[in-house]
Amino acid sequence: MKEIKVISPAKVNLYLNVLARRGDGYHEIETIIQAIDLCDEVTLREKEKGIEVSCQNEGVPEGERNLAYRAARLILQETKISKGVGIEIKKNIPPAAGLGGGSSNAAATLAGLNKLWNLNLPERRLIQLATSLGMDVPFFIQGGRAIGRGKGDELTPLKGWSPFWLILVIPEFRVSTKRAYQSLKLDLTKGESQIKIVLKHLEKGDLSSILYNKFEEVMQKKYPRVKMIKERLKSLGITLASMSGSGSAIFGMARSGEEAERIREVIKQEEEVYVAKTWNGGVSVVSWN
Ligand code: ATP
Repeated sequence: MKEIKVISPAKVNLYLNVLARRGDGYHEIETIIQAIDLCDEVTLREKEKGIEVSCQNEGVPEGERNLAYRAARLILQETKISKGVGIEIKKNIPPAAGLGGGSSNAAATLAGLNKLWNLNLPERRLIQLATSLGMDVPFFIQGGRAIGRGKGDELTPLKGWSPFWLILVIPEFRVSTKRAYQSLKLDLTKGESQIKIVLKHLEKGDLSSILYNKFEEVMQKKYPRVKMIKERLKSLGITLASMSGSGSAIFGMARSGEEAERIREVIKQEEEVYVAKTWNGGVSVVSWN
């Protein structure tokens, strides 16, 4: 039986603004998404029929509620082929932390099954399928850095950026994205877009002026831990830090890999902490038997 291994990276939102609630229940957002090299490993094994997901992480469902399961089911429905797959997810990305792990696993499954089953679906088609699975899924097909507009799925890739190191701190609490949006209490009136200004700063390579997360203020009120972590990072020399997605992960930008490692060593007794580097691609197939 054939099997394939796909690397499934996480993301952080360098900038995340929510402009309005939409009539269709979604939100109008603008964001700068950055892929990072904190990665899960998704192994796809051909089987005769059915979809089976296995994952050792307690916070991750194994059945139909798993986004990778839904990705496989969607491909089977779309292509009408009669095959099955076993999906094994080795989780390194903390779930429900605003790092997009579930969405990335779904994108990895789409890209992996496209290879495993020789479907030859073009990237354009994979992106369409990804969009129907969730707003964060299409980003992971291409990865790198991109602007997300609309519901977050209207993507424009950004090129020519310099890599950097991050330190990620994951507080104990987890956040449901749905609840986080509800707590913003937005109406249908659209806030003013800031994306042109953000892009000007980005063109100059000035990341310090763009770090922003609309959810941070409400989350800080509810969970004082967010502020405490940012202050702890500041005391260790990391002045640029922000929450990712709707939380709870907080990332700080380090000046070097050595600095990030040094800080990890200091705070690993206190917090769940990771060091990561920006990642220039999206999900990627690494081995094939
Ligand atoms: P969101 O996309 O809602 O912003 P997130 O980035 O905060 O999510 P995820 O790691 O994607 O976090 O997990 C969100 C929820 O999705 C989890 O609580 C989990 O129940 C569910 N989930 C489904 N499939 C997966 C998966 N393959 N990996 C992780 N979580 C998954």
